[in-house]
Amino acid sequence: MNTLCKLKENINIRGKIFPSESLAEHTTFRIGGPAELFIEPADEAELIAVMEFLGKTGVPCFILGGGSNVVISDDGLEGAVISTAALDSLSIDDGDREYAGDSGELRIRAGSGCTMEKLLLRCRELSLSGLEEFAGLPGTVGGAVYMNARCYGRSVSDVLRSVTWFDRAAEKIRECRIDMDDWDYKKSPFQNREGVILSAVMAVKKGKAEDIASLMERYIRDREEKGHFRYPSAGSVFKNSREYGKPSGLIIDEAGLRGYAIGGAQVAPWHGNIIINTGNASASDVARLVGYIRNYVRGKTGFDLEPEILFAGPFQDTE
Ligand SMILES: Cc1cc2nc3c(=O)[nH]c(=O)nc-3n(C[C@H](O)[C@H](O)[C@H](O)COP(=O)(O)OP(=O)(O)OC[C@H]3O[C@@H](n4cnc5c(N)ncnc54)[C@H](O)[C@@H]3O)c2cc1C
Repeated sequence: MNTLCKLKENINIRGKIFPSESLAEHTTFRIGGPAELFIEPADEAELIAVMEFLGKTGVPCFILGGGSNVVISDDGLEGAVISTAALDSLSIDDGDREYAGDSGELRIRAGSGCTMEKLLLRCRELSLSGLEEFAGLPGTVGGAVYMNARCYGRSVSDVLRSVTWFDRAAEKIRECRIDMDDWDYKKSPFQNREGVILSAVMAVKKGKAEDIASLMERYIRDREEKGHFRYPSAGSVFKNSREYGKPSGLIIDEAGLRGYAIGGAQVAPWHGNIIINTGNASASDVARLVGYIRNYVRGKTGFDLEPEILFAGPFQDTE
């Protein structure tokens, strides 16, 4: 492959490169065609070199974290898929005094490819409190920042202090301090930027080991009881709307769509806002089911559900 040869010629990659890598293996839905080129840079410097190379050659690229909020087309993705998996560093510091004051706030810096599981485990080991609500959240720190993930009433932006990111247009590393005007429910400024999140700094405090462990366990148990991990999925399909005043799951339940299936994609029989892969679902099954639910709910209630899951690659119009 041309791009692959040129990339190998230009950058001495220590990380992994696979042509035609199945993306189903890299998503929690277990769905998706191949990436023309799948690249897992070994570290930040290598990731930036790869991004610069792709920028110059005009090869399209998609950034993949834990793949827990994406539906990748059955046709796969053209160009390069860049996995952040190797950017999984974690470090703790005292914060800068000027910003942290005497509040006892500590800062934890996590590489964008660090899984939320690894971050939470380290907090637990070191008795650091503040992130407990995110226990059990699949995916990576970069994905959670990009999505401004929200769990049990707490958004990532509530605990975020700064983000280091690579600006692809300017080819510069930038530091983003958190201005709450740029963040909202499941919205982050990165959704409108051509950038790669490299690392994020979050605020934590020393806490009591037993309290931290028992809170984390409680949230994980709650997810298990709600059937989050029973089948492959991407978690909640639709955002909740404050205007409508009802969670999207309840709106879908009331429309009688629990258990409704198209091909191998099914509205979870126990939760209206989760679509599960019952075994052989295609991305097109999921897209058609999402389209069906939106149309049906719009027809019944006049309300337009907004998808939270992201579709990547070519899809037929399902509306
Ligand atoms: C069982 C289950 C339960 C879930 N529960 C919740 C929940 O309670 N709350 C919630 O908010 N979400 C939930 N989710 C959805 C998902 O886990 C979150 O959105 C998660 O934060 C996505 O992280 P990820 O690393 O998997 O991102 P991915 O799915 O890999 O990517 C999501 C988006 O982020 C972009 N991205 C990822 N990393 C970077 C980076 N370093 N730089 C720039 N862009 C990047 C991708 O390009 C993509 O557009 C759940 C999912 C599952 C499967």
